[in-house]
Parts: sequence; structure tokens; C-alpha cells
Amino acid sequence: MLVIRGYKYELNINNKERTVLTKCAGTARFAWNWGLANRNQRYQTQTGVARYTDAMKQNKELNRLKRTEFPWMYEVSKCIPQEVLRNLDRAYQNFFTNTRKRKQKRTQQFVGFPKFKKKGRCKDSFRLTGTIKLFLGDKLVQLPRLGKLRLKERPNLPTSARILNVTISRTADRWYIAFAVKEEQSDPKPNKGPLVALDTGLSVFAALSSGIPISRPKFLLQQARKQRRLSKAHSRKQKGSHNKRKSALRLGRFYRRITNQRQNFLHQTSTYLAKNHSVIVLEDLHIKGLMQNRKLSKYWADLSHGLFQRILEYKTVWYGSTVIKIDRWFPSSKLCSNCLYYRRDLPLSTRIFHCPLCGLELDRDQNAAFNVANYYWIYQFRLFPVAESSAETLNACGEVVRPASKQAHVEEAGRTAPTKAGKKSYS
Ligand SMILES: [Zn+2]
Repeated sequence: MLVIRGYKYELNINNKERTVLTKCAGTARFAWNWGLANRNQRYQTQTGVARYTDAMKQNKELNRLKRTEFPWMYEVSKCIPQEVLRNLDRAYQNFFTNTRKRKQKRTQQFVGFPKFKKKGRCKDSFRLTGTIKLFLGDKLVQLPRLGKLRLKERPNLPTSARILNVTISRTADRWYIAFAVKEEQSDPKPNKGPLVALDTGLSVFAALSSGIPISRPKFLLQQARKQRRLSKAHSRKQKGSHNKRKSALRLGRFYRRITNQRQNFLHQTSTYLAKNHSVIVLEDLHIKGLMQNRKLSKYWADLSHGLFQRILEYKTVWYGSTVIKIDRWFPSSKLCSNCLYYRRDLPLSTRIFHCPLCGLELDRDQNAAFNVANYYWIYQFRLFPVAESSAETLNACGEVVRPASKQAHVEEAGRTAPTKAGKKSYS
């Protein structure tokens, strides 16, 4: 199968090159802001079809303006604004598609309108296309207009890979290059490992149905004191001063380190799970909802469960395993994994699950992990309703369970007496 993959390396650059890269990133930011302002203005002043534009038209317009108004743009590759305007076009499409979908109640996800980018506040990055050559032996990469740049390590791109484009970005004081490549990968053999069910939580990163939990690392939380000290020091520096710039860098490096640690953990864990298991069953977490609890949000944020699920989804494809997401409303914590007794009252503070019916005493998360596994097996035999997200099977309930809209209530009341919807038994 053909896969598109990213390979990211750090660049080893000198001050001169650093200046050029900063200039490129600045041009990208400018092009974005210009494109967005141009679109806004068009929408407000024009009528009919002329209110709308696309990436190609905008690029032509910008090229015309370059000669007279922005001659400095000739200093960098012409791909940079071109790619930025494409990104902007995509951002617009995403926004309007999402708005339409939300109106039709087809999604709950929210995509915002494109925003202007501010120097120092946005991520410095730009994308290059065209002739990109990699000299593996010399750790060099040749890019359009930028020439040869050194890499800090020897790239491990497969020889069959075709480079589509590169994205150069900066995090604190380091510059990185990411190659997007198309490569041929042999179809994975079906994974023969056992099934594993995960219950993601806060006391452990994930309780596994195999019995061994993945303990919870603390990334930012462990360094909360340092974070506090650095941010305080930063906010006390005078605006626009050298010291402010230096402290910003210190803070940036600190966050970069934390992010790297977290990503390392997520990648190692997901690779282990995807390589050694045939089926991975997860709960379809509502991360946005969980983040709204202001006492717990920082704990959830520190673990990046959402990112973890995304990584797991693509890695399982590589290793021939599957991810199954189960209904987020399934009461995994409140059921007894032994006799399926449902405990109505179970505050978050109760860490041990005690079953009054069969006397089971088990760690709360472990019990939940067993329940998730049970759910999967029961779902295999169609005894429980299927999660809403899985489109391949119809929901066993048949009828809508959600409360009907006001209009529907009125109509229904006019015709027949209100009936309880969706209360069918699974016989
Ligand atoms: Zn029980």
C-alpha cells in the first residue's frame, strides 16, 4: 500500500541561514495575512461571484502586486506564498464545510474562521515544493532558493520514498525540517496478538484488560514549579527589552522539552500496543467535555489522550491491528465486570469498585478496562447497542433516543399521546 508519511529532523544551521529562514517564515506569515485581508475585503465590497476567490486567483493577484508593492518577496522562494494561500483556501473550505455540517447536525466538532497571524505569537513555519534533493551521506538537503542546508542527523528515509514537499518550522531556538514522503509499504499481515481493552483515566494513564496498567507520567505537572518560576520571570521583564526576549526563549525551550517528553511517551506506548495486539478497544472519549472541568483539565491536558488515540488509529493500520471505539455513554466504571451489576452511585473519589452482589473488589480503572473488553465481546454478538460512530452497522435501538426538538413535540402532541421513544428491550 502507498502511505504518506512525515519524517522530521533538526537542521544544523548558522546565523546567516537562520536569518534567511526567519525571513521565509515572515513572508509566509505576511502572505497569510494578506490573503485573509484580501478575502475579507472582497466579501465586504464586491457583489455576486466576485465576492469569492481561490488560491490560484489570489496567487496571481499577489504576483502582480509583488512587482510594485512587495519587491522584498522576491528574496524568498515563490513556493512559500503559493503554499500559504493554498493553506488559507483549505482553512476556508474547512470552516464552511463544518458550518454546513453543524447546521445539518451531522457533526459536533467546531472549526473556527481563519485568524490573522501575529509575529512572535504564531508558529514560524513554511512549506516548500519543487526540486528537493537529499544527500544522505553528507547529511545535506538541497532546497529551492535556500540551497544546501545541513541536518543534525542522517535521515532514515527509505530509498523508495518520493519527497512531496518539506515543511520548515521553528520551535524556540531550533529549526526543523519535515519531509512529507509517499512510500510503498508492504501490506501488513493480520496481527495475531491478543485483544486488549483500555480504560483511560487520571490515576493511571490507561488500565489494560491484560491486567498491567500503564502508569501515568507527569510531564508538565512534575515541573509546575519551574513553569511558574519561568513564566513569572518572563512577565516581569520590560516589554520589548533584550531580557524579555531571553526569558521568552527560556520559556520556549522549557515547553519544547515537555512536549518532546510527552510525544516520546505517546509514540512508545502506542507502538507497543499496536504491534502486540490484534484488537485495541477504547472508549470514545469526549475530550472537549472533559477539558471543561476546570479542576481536572490540566491533568487531562498533560496526558494528551486525544493525540494518543489519533496516533493509535494510524499506527494500527501499519501493524495490521484494529482500533475499536465503543460508545462514550457506556457506563464502564459503574458496572461490575464479574456479574454486570450496575452501581448507580460511584463518586470519582471511590477508587476501589466493590460489588454488593458478587462481592468483587477491584481497582476502579481495572474494573472499567474489563468492562470495555466485555462490551466488545457482547457487541460481537449484538447484545448491546452499537456505538454511534461506527457507521457499518445500524444502531440496535432503531429509534432515536435523544430528546426530540420542540417542533417535533408539538407535532406529536397534536396527533397522538406522547410515547416513550427508544425504550425497546433487546430480546
Ligand atoms: Zn458483581
